[in-house]
Amino acid sequence: GWRSRAAFKLQEIDDRFHILKRGARVVDLGCAPGGWVQMAQSRGAAHVVGVDLLPVDPIPGADMIEADFTDPAIPARLMEMMGDKPDVVLSDLAHNTVGHRQTDHLKIMGLLELASDFALDNLKPGGAFVAKAFQGGETEHLLLKLKLAFRDVKHFKPKSSRADSSEIYIVAQGFKG
Ligand code: SAM
Repeated sequence: GWRSRAAFKLQEIDDRFHILKRGARVVDLGCAPGGWVQMAQSRGAAHVVGVDLLPVDPIPGADMIEADFTDPAIPARLMEMMGDKPDVVLSDLAHNTVGHRQTDHLKIMGLLELASDFALDNLKPGGAFVAKAFQGGETEHLLLKLKLAFRDVKHFKPKSSRADSSEIYIVAQGFKG
């Protein structure tokens, strides 16, 4: 079985955008408990590298570390584990909300910025970036940056994402390198 309901969100994203090609090399940011790793593998990913603050039970074919992605040493560590430029960078990063709107907003944006910088620095040309974002988030600047770097940038709200949640996903394809 799938380790998370989140797995179905990635399934819907991939059904629509076909980002997970056979043999793909994938980095998964915020990978616990591993649902996206499982889904990426079931769609043909050859090598998945992941990071999360929480420990993740091992999955054959995936390398996952327990670490804080905001630690400046971690991006290089993930790339070392990957060995070569990834075809796909996934980010489902989300912190535990503290309930203070501005604080939560800043944290969400901070994680999203870091994830997108990681994708821009490391993706293989032609590659794809998928990241959790939030409606009403001040993502204008970030979207502009992504639109310059990718052929195609879209927003997508999976049906399996609760309708009352402001969560949406950014799907960027065709990295120009
Ligand atoms: N996609 C996952 C799946 O299908 O199993 C679910 C991911 S869950 C929605 C978000 C994850 O982001 C949590 O497990 C959380 O621990 C992780 N996270 C939040 N902040 C993080 C950080 N700074 N570094 C690493 N992981 C982080």
